[in-house]
Amino acid sequence: LLFIPITLVVYLTLYFARYLFSRKRSMYTEVKLALKMREFFLHYQPHVDASSGCVFGVEALVRWQHPSRGIVYPDVFIPLMEEYGLMDELTDYVLNAAYHDLAEKVFREGIHLGINVPPGYFSNPKNIRLLKLYKNKFDGIGISLGLEITERQFLDSVACESISRLRTFGIDILIDDFGTGQTSLSVLERTNIDYLKIDKCFVDSIGHQSVNAPVLNAIINLAKELNVGIIAEGVETDRQAQYLLTQGVTLHQGYLYAKPARIEKLFLSKSK
Ligand code: C2E
Ligand code: MG
Ligand code: MG
Ligand code: MG
Repeated sequence: LLFIPITLVVYLTLYFARYLFSRKRSMYTEVKLALKMREFFLHYQPHVDASSGCVFGVEALVRWQHPSRGIVYPDVFIPLMEEYGLMDELTDYVLNAAYHDLAEKVFREGIHLGINVPPGYFSNPKNIRLLKLYKNKFDGIGISLGLEITERQFLDSVACESISRLRTFGIDILIDDFGTGQTSLSVLERTNIDYLKIDKCFVDSIGHQSVNAPVLNAIINLAKELNVGIIAEGVETDRQAQYLLTQGVTLHQGYLYAKPARIEKLFLSKSK
């Protein structure tokens, strides 16, 4: 009598495992095909110099124009692509797409471009060569290349070495989402970087009523002491912008200024 339920459980488990496996496989095929079919595209969000109103630069943010699901955002497909080991391929794709988008525009006074670079990218020498190549290509169209790197990449000594080398090529290094990772502060003394991007959560601490932002203030002072630039992420209100300005933080990114959009929709002249 016990035999029937046991068989049933075993059968269902196997069936479910097979289902999960084939689903994962088909997701892999789908993402791989999307790269091949060039279904990914870029939105750009400006980094605004709030003291003058000028656009200092833009960050490239990848999206997937899915054939049936509409626009899919990176928080959905990046974890998948990390799992499938497709992040190098995606980064190459993004560099190429950004070059083609921006080569059509004319930047008389130059502009900064932030590209998000995933963990592990710097451990492949081929990628370092590719970045050097792109650095020169972007220079040729009046764009200075910057790489947005998360804190955890500084835990890897090979990556740190590559980062230093890339800086000698004239590529800017930005630490993304600063304050949310595990940067040991000693890394900041050892590694030269160009900008800290203060994570949105600290900008959010500039409240509606009172400002209670001790960590934000500390990060600002830290950046000043280290003599590195600061970009505030996720600025949404006038109050936040005003407070940041009084603290001497002039480079802002956020919905207050512009949401990420296709390059054609962005106003890209430095003189506003
Ligand atoms: P991130 O690099 O920190 O990018 C900033 C994210 O905050 C973007 O989300 C942007 O749309 C959003 N954001 C900007 N201003 C505001 C604001 O005022 N309010 C709010 N609520 N959000 C704001 P997005 O585009 O969904 O990207 C999420 C993350 O995905 C990025 O975080 C980045 O880590 C990753 N990502 C995006 N594009 C790429 C890429 O090309 N390569 C890699 N490796 N990662 C990427
Ligand atoms: Mg970023
Ligand atoms: Mg960020
Ligand atoms: Mg962020």
